[in-house]
Amino acid sequence: MPGIESMTAVSCEDLVKVFRSVTGETHALRGIGLELVPGALTVVAGPSGSGKSSLLTLLGARDRPSAGRLTVLGSDVGVASTRELRRLRRRQIGFVPQRASNAVFPHLRATDQLRQVASWRGASRRHLAEALDAVGLTDRGGHRPDALSGGEQQRLAVAIALVGTPALVVADEPTAELDHANADRVMDALLAVAAAGSTVVISSHDDRVTHRADRLLRLRHGVVSSETSGRRTAAAVIDATGRVQLPQEMLGLFPDRRVVVEADGDHVRLRRPEVEL
Ligand code: ADP
Ligand code: MG
Repeated sequence: MPGIESMTAVSCEDLVKVFRSVTGETHALRGIGLELVPGALTVVAGPSGSGKSSLLTLLGARDRPSAGRLTVLGSDVGVASTRELRRLRRRQIGFVPQRASNAVFPHLRATDQLRQVASWRGASRRHLAEALDAVGLTDRGGHRPDALSGGEQQRLAVAIALVGTPALVVADEPTAELDHANADRVMDALLAVAAAGSTVVISSHDDRVTHRADRLLRLRHGVVSSETSGRRTAAAVIDATGRVQLPQEMLGLFPDRRVVVEADGDHVRLRRPEVEL
């Protein structure tokens, strides 16, 4: 049995990120502690400016902490050499930046981009086709990014991040430019890679995304303000007058017993009135 230590893909403690500029300092992250384990999808939610991108950039080993400790797939990101981090990123981390266009090579056709990244990760041609299919871009493989829409570029960036099932997948608002069907498809693909054993962390304030998380962290002003775990489902019946009785273990989600009921296509969601989406 592997110990808890070896099960943890990413861990951080008192993680701080301060940006300095001529106009002063911005404390984007003010002491974050968390552990991410393989096989689960974590969503980081929070209002604009709360520090989501700063956190994901660090978790993807694309920046160094200002203070605190950050370990990503065994590398201490604060002290590892630039070369070690580059190797880690190429081989083991799929990353979708908030601006998807930054993730794609402008001069390469979609399939060639995937082939390049797949070769870094030792993935096969089959994986390449699967990645394009998973995001619904099979018939766009021959196009260069400038012939793709913003949403298609975002889906291509997701395919590049997922190809070959890297140990860690980090995606910053990966459904921001997508319609409902494609957002669902991208979430299916991210959940599938988590089910295959990757550690997946994404940011979003999109309810289509947050309700499918295994774990939901909310950031506020650079600190974790709340954490919810588990995509929980339970069977219940609707009585003749339309009443549904929630299972006891879910009542805790509604401490003041007020609820917003939202019909969304073929399903209904219940949420606390003050929960931000
Ligand atoms: P979010 O992704 O939740 O919108 P960010 O992590 O992008 O939040 O930003 C958190 C704070 O850090 C904001 O106040 C933002 O202006 C600031 N910030 C982010 N990146 C930089 C940077 N490169 N230089 C200066 N300030 C930055
Ligand atoms: Mg952001």
